[in-house]
Amino acid sequence: MNQYDWGPIREELSADVIVVGGGPAGMCAAIAAAREGVQVVLVEQGGSCGGMATQGMVGPFMTCYDRKGETMIIRGLFEEIVDRMVERGYAIHPSGVHAGTGFTSWIVLGHDHVTPYEPEGLKLVIDEMLEEAGVYILYHTSFLQPVLEVNTLTGILVSSKRGLDFIRGKVVIDCTGDGDVAVRSGVPYEMGNEELGLIQPATMFFHICNADEAAMEADIQANLHNFYRKDGVNYRSFHWRVSEAREKGDWNLKRVSLGLFRMPKPDEWCVNTSRLMGVDSTDNESLTRAEIDGRRQAEHIMHFLRKYVPGCENIKLKATASHVGIRESRHIRGDYRLTAEDLLSGTVPQDSILLAANSVDVHGRFGPTSNEYVAIGGDYYGVPYRSLIASGVEQLLIAGRCVSADSTAAGAIRVMPPCMAMGQAAGTAAAMAVKEKLTVREVDIHTLRQTLRERNVYLG
Ligand SMILES: Cc1cc2nc3c(=O)[nH]c(=O)nc-3n(C[C@H](O)[C@H](O)[C@H](O)COP(=O)(O)OP(=O)(O)OC[C@H]3O[C@@H](n4cnc5c(N)ncnc54)[C@H](O)[C@@H]3O)c2cc1C
Repeated sequence: MNQYDWGPIREELSADVIVVGGGPAGMCAAIAAAREGVQVVLVEQGGSCGGMATQGMVGPFMTCYDRKGETMIIRGLFEEIVDRMVERGYAIHPSGVHAGTGFTSWIVLGHDHVTPYEPEGLKLVIDEMLEEAGVYILYHTSFLQPVLEVNTLTGILVSSKRGLDFIRGKVVIDCTGDGDVAVRSGVPYEMGNEELGLIQPATMFFHICNADEAAMEADIQANLHNFYRKDGVNYRSFHWRVSEAREKGDWNLKRVSLGLFRMPKPDEWCVNTSRLMGVDSTDNESLTRAEIDGRRQAEHIMHFLRKYVPGCENIKLKATASHVGIRESRHIRGDYRLTAEDLLSGTVPQDSILLAANSVDVHGRFGPTSNEYVAIGGDYYGVPYRSLIASGVEQLLIAGRCVSADSTAAGAIRVMPPCMAMGQAAGTAAAMAVKEKLTVREVDIHTLRQTLRERNVYLG
């Protein structure tokens, strides 16, 4: 079969700014642009915003503080979202959350001031903020194809149950995590780390409830002497229990320890432990196998937890994620490619649109069980606006996990607070371009940074 009947393509929608993907980056891009007074359409293939934060059940929000843990440096929309969630009991404010506790899976390095939160609360808060800002939300709608005039994006084709729609737009922001719009527009990209031929492993998150925090904590305290070893493997909590289970044939996963992160309620924990190698999130067959294998691994981990981890004897499986967690896929090429060296040396380019201090967190580079965690040199680094401008096309910005960075640098800025900050900057810049009839490349960086500062973004 080489012909399809999609029916007529409807052309009912037009917007100043089209945001594709409603994950941490996309939801903030849409809110930021709409608050600047332009018309925004948000296209999301799932039934809620949040991406990995909701559908992927990833958590907590990684640190938003500087390396010393003294100053909250990711603010703006991220802080507003957190405040709204805290007010309604859906999150714990990062100022009161410390490294070396159950909230950080007892990890110390780079984990001070994370934000534990409830994904269900995030869905509600984001719907509310999008509606308040006047964003036209299209859930259950997938990006299909860009429409270009020469090399300028003029809109996108989307598909849904009712067929095909053409949405005309003046600026498109690609927040798909995989850079779908950019790739189909011909922008160059790198898949994972092409030099090493590796993609970071994926993880099926799941949540448990009915855990006894005090008993878990007591086991950690009794084993603090061998808690954190640095021999190429960054051991996390309960590796002594994993070793015991492996010896007895009750552990067959390519992980040497557990990622158990306490959620706002003390008996509920987020489990970041399954390991799925070689998953290509741009291939539905690869994703399908990962979902099935991920759920199988979740059950294996449940059996292990009940049998080996004190305090988990009576746990229940609350939910597995509806989308397997994707750490890495395509890194889209922008006008600037952020490097690991930029981050580790604490470089703050003049066109920085956010500051962050997240460590480089790369899994699986030295074998399936490895986990590199490298803290940065300075107090923070900057992400330049040029990394958000897609190379070789006009009117396309990229924000979030697929932003222009090398694989190692992406291993740091892929966490949710920087992704939200990138989204806010991209949305603000897109609105400025529309209002001033400029291309996104012509946006005045001084005015953009000034506007972001006025919107509570910390730029030093
Ligand atoms: C295992 C794992 C552990 C992690 N741990 C943490 C952590 O502890 N703390 C932290 O802060 N971060 C963590 N992260 C990182 C973080 O969750 C992601 O990198 C971040 O969510 C990326 O945000 P994003 O908006 O770029 O993409 P995503 O969250 O992937 O969102 C992309 C959105 O785009 C939509 N979309 C994709 N393609 C299309 C299309 N063609 N059409 C329409 N919609 C589309 C998707 O449905 C999704 O909603 C972790 C990630 C993983 C996988």
